[in-house]
Amino acid sequence: MANVPTVTLNDGTLIPQLGFGVWQVSTDDIVASVGQALQAGYRHIDTAAIYGNEEGVGQAIAESGIAREDLYITTKLWNANHQRDKAIPAAEESLRKLGLDYVDLYLIHWPVPSKGNYVEAWLAMEEIQSKGLAKSIGVSNFTIEHLKEIEAAGSVIPAVNQIELHPTFTQVPLVAANDALGIKTESWSPLGQSKDLQNDTIVGLAETLGKTAAQVIIRWHLQKGYIVFPKSVTPSRIAENFAVFDFELSTDDVAAIDALNEDNRIGGHPDEVGA
Ligand code: NAD
Repeated sequence: MANVPTVTLNDGTLIPQLGFGVWQVSTDDIVASVGQALQAGYRHIDTAAIYGNEEGVGQAIAESGIAREDLYITTKLWNANHQRDKAIPAAEESLRKLGLDYVDLYLIHWPVPSKGNYVEAWLAMEEIQSKGLAKSIGVSNFTIEHLKEIEAAGSVIPAVNQIELHPTFTQVPLVAANDALGIKTESWSPLGQSKDLQNDTIVGLAETLGKTAAQVIIRWHLQKGYIVFPKSVTPSRIAENFAVFDFELSTDDVAAIDALNEDNRIGGHPDEVGA
């Protein structure tokens, strides 16, 4: 089974660089899909309270028999629970659903700046970490401005910022800001929700390398140093997306994909989601 590289976070913990994302995996599919991913060798699962599938993730983990310390589980605090008195029970509820004593990584899902309480949420995250409910804490969908605000107000720098990032939306300034603060970048919708798979440059590289378009894109994220968790419910694709450790993109290949940016945001803007 492939040895997935790890990335060292700013709190000293290690995260497997390739994982399995479960947004929009239905309650009918979740146990089988996570089970297939674990069977294929994935050990890192990215879920969220709002995905409504934490219980299924927990069931698949329990059924796998894999030791807890060999798994890396991320979940996320939903927008309605940013207040301290809601955030801590929300973390406990996620743990109950997952059947776990702790998550490896807990994220603020969206900043929702119009509600003005992501700083309060961050201070609650620090408490969640000190209570041992999460080994690492981070954020998702934070812009440079949001990051600066929690850096100033808090005592912990987020371990990661999970952001929309794929070949046609490369987010160069935000990645640079993450780097400058010592925050690792996680790429969500790494395949552009499958749209970037049709890009001519990607298709051409895949043909030349004898790999699939998805494998080329996942390889690009890995070689950029990003943490990545493509989603699929199709067993052959779950395996395909994990089979990315037997080839490398050249420097020129990476540069060719870097040049595909079109600022093609697919999801909502962080200043607007949840407003
Ligand atoms: P993705 O970019 O991983 O694309 C998934 C889609 O691509 C699948 O539904 C499938 O249609 C297709 N696909 C996957 N593998 C393929 C293959 N090998 N060949 C052909 N088609 C393939 O999109 P995503 O699910 O939006 O993102 C991945 C994960 O990122 C999510 O599951 C979730 O964990 C996370 N995410 C987080 C946020 C956030 O706000 N923090 C938002 C969106 C997604």
